[in-house]
Amino acid sequence: MQTLSPLSTALLCLLAAAACVGVSPDKPLPGSLTGTTDDRATLNQRFLEMFARAYYPGRSGQIMLVPERGDILLEPNDPFYRFMHGSPWDYDVEIPLILHGQGHIRQGIFDAPVTHRDIAPTVASLLDVPTPVTMSGTPLTASLANAAEPPRIVFVAVLDGARRDFFDRFVTDLPTLNRLKNEGAWYSEARIDYLPSLTSVGHASIATGAEPRVHGVVANTMYDRRFARPSGPFPDLSPASLHALTIADLWNLNTQGDAVIIGQGTTARATIPMAGHGGCLVSAQSTIMAMFDGTFGGWVTNDECYRLPSYVANDKAARLWQSGETWLGYEIHDSSTLLRTGRFITYQVDALVSMIEREEVGKDEVPDLILVNFKTLDYVGHRWGPDSDELAEALRDLDRELGRVIGALESAAGDNNFVTIIASDHGTPGEPEEPENARYYITDIIEAVHDRFDPTERRVILFYGDPADNQFFVDRSHLENLGFDLESVAAYLEALPYIFSAYTEDEVAAVSGR
Ligand SMILES: [Zn+2]
Repeated sequence: MQTLSPLSTALLCLLAAAACVGVSPDKPLPGSLTGTTDDRATLNQRFLEMFARAYYPGRSGQIMLVPERGDILLEPNDPFYRFMHGSPWDYDVEIPLILHGQGHIRQGIFDAPVTHRDIAPTVASLLDVPTPVTMSGTPLTASLANAAEPPRIVFVAVLDGARRDFFDRFVTDLPTLNRLKNEGAWYSEARIDYLPSLTSVGHASIATGAEPRVHGVVANTMYDRRFARPSGPFPDLSPASLHALTIADLWNLNTQGDAVIIGQGTTARATIPMAGHGGCLVSAQSTIMAMFDGTFGGWVTNDECYRLPSYVANDKAARLWQSGETWLGYEIHDSSTLLRTGRFITYQVDALVSMIEREEVGKDEVPDLILVNFKTLDYVGHRWGPDSDELAEALRDLDRELGRVIGALESAAGDNNFVTIIASDHGTPGEPEEPENARYYITDIIEAVHDRFDPTERRVILFYGDPADNQFFVDRSHLENLGFDLESVAAYLEALPYIFSAYTEDEVAAVSGR
């Protein structure tokens, strides 16, 4: 981020006329932020600090971006992704957080500002286990009832892509979530305090209680210069890049493998953090990790660190499309279509409930841990948006299926013997006020940067992958050979009408080290 003089902005606009329509160096604050006292400079600094909390050398990009509030950055021509989170705006960072468990959790509305990092130390507190220094969040003690005995089960459900306001807008329609919210502790000011706001970083922060710059999972896709190719955070389903103990790890080590620990979800970036390092940690035991693999059409694991019960491995999703099921009239004919329906949640909970029953969860004095990513709201939100009938229906499906999980936990442990924690990894933007004018494509950003800085070779951007990462990877030495630096790229981007601010790796690194 750099403050531009009107003259330099004008110069940039001359150099890239097409991309600079309507640019003013003093762009006004978005109207919907009226009521806040923050000016652009304050927000610029806050967003810089949020990126700094998730800066990890070698893994983070060289340019970090914030789109203007309401504007959406996408890949072109992808009907499954018409809405995209990742920003610091309210709709992406305000998250729900509920703690529920009679005898263990106090009832009430708590307005303390809390964040992802506070969840793992809260579970540690319920289990009465000391936390490692990386778990830097604060236990939510105000809502803990200090029960004489720990709960027999702690169930952590991460509702991928659930905005906090879903719990105001829809909750009366949702008997299970409504009950948990009303009987339990509702944190009305839970918020993400790092960037980008997306699945991998969210789940890793919830699971470890660490800042992303400590646990090391800082983007959905990175560019690995060793092999000159993009990489997800958990290649081959290995947890190796997660550089902090998770709550599952801590409990695994403390109980020497006596606790049942189950991590379940869709995609490696959501599921591996939930499961932790399993038996790939020194002195730890293998735990259950069940990840839905869309290509395979069923549940998979990594046998080196985890195990997968055969009754789960054998339940292939093809049974749903072979039986001709539909959802809201949409045909289900493969994993990709299934994942964008509430029907997937039933399939997921079938597996989860059978694990609760057959692994004897909650049956002895050693508390068991169940950590689950529910991906469906995110996929449905990406495709149809948070205000769609599809999203409302997926929420009703999720509520019903969560009720089934809680019923299984009640049967396993008794009514007053378990704690449920409901949170989300991030939110989602709504339909822009001018839908046709507020969707922008990362391919156009790449083109514009290459037109401006590297028109001949067009390779100064090494990689710009998942739009939600809000960062891209630059060949710095090539850029310098072309006579430019990162500041010039950031300044150019910040002058685009749909970019609120752009930061260089150097700025972010300087703040991150403080
Ligand atoms: Zn998403």
